[in-house]
Amino acid sequence: MTKKKKIMIAGPCAAESKRQILECATALKKRDIDEMRASLWKPRTRPNAFEGVGKEGLSWLAEVTRLGITVGTEVLLPNQVTDFIEGINHYGGDLTKILFWLGSRNQNQFIQREVARKVHQETPRQVKLVIKNQPWDNESHWLGIVDYVVGGGIESERIILCHRGFSANGRDNPNVFRNLPDFDMAMKVKMITGLPMILDPSHIGGSVNNVFKILEQAADYDFDGLMVEVHPTPTKALTDNKQQLNFVELDRLLTLSE
Ligand code: PEP
Ligand code: MN
Repeated sequence: MTKKKKIMIAGPCAAESKRQILECATALKKRDIDEMRASLWKPRTRPNAFEGVGKEGLSWLAEVTRLGITVGTEVLLPNQVTDFIEGINHYGGDLTKILFWLGSRNQNQFIQREVARKVHQETPRQVKLVIKNQPWDNESHWLGIVDYVVGGGIESERIILCHRGFSANGRDNPNVFRNLPDFDMAMKVKMITGLPMILDPSHIGGSVNNVFKILEQAADYDFDGLMVEVHPTPTKALTDNKQQLNFVELDRLLTLSE
């Protein structure tokens, strides 16, 4: 039986500069990783923090697509899907090499459905929409997001689910994870929906050490791949600087998942 290729989406939490994006894309290319994350818009807990470079980063990401790498961002609003497509097109990028994701903070189901509708209507069929679980642990809500999104008309082959853990909210948390995983629930949602389920160890772990702990804990579960944060110089990252892997740590991760 041939083993299905695992999904690997790696890249910085946020796009910060052209140099950071191209260094990262080159590092991925060297390692045969063909999907990259780099958020242009960052929802933050308080509004005075770095909220992403926004449309300024579109020319950098267009260049990434020209290297043959699929690149994507979190979208919070339907019009960001349109802005992304228009920008990539304007800067001569490849519209078949983009992807989007709905983040955990975006739990307005009508907006989620509109985002999915836009992806469905305005992008080529190769373009995927990743959906992260909500911050609180509730299976029914997680399944509900999928129902809302599918209600936007998007083909299920274009959807990938992603487990990024649930808020600890006072629960036992001996490893001091940023969010607590529930691998069994993730597998159940994967089975019920029939959709691929990838794992985001970065936002579960919250630190490089924890990213590796989570990969170890998840090893026996049937995840279809990973979304992982990688940065050329994590200590200088403008967001999530404790959990992003440098390229040496990325190599360690790749050896583990061989
Ligand atoms: C992210 O992927 O950068 C992110 C903000 O993750 P989450 O929505 O899972 O918190
Ligand atoms: Mn992040």
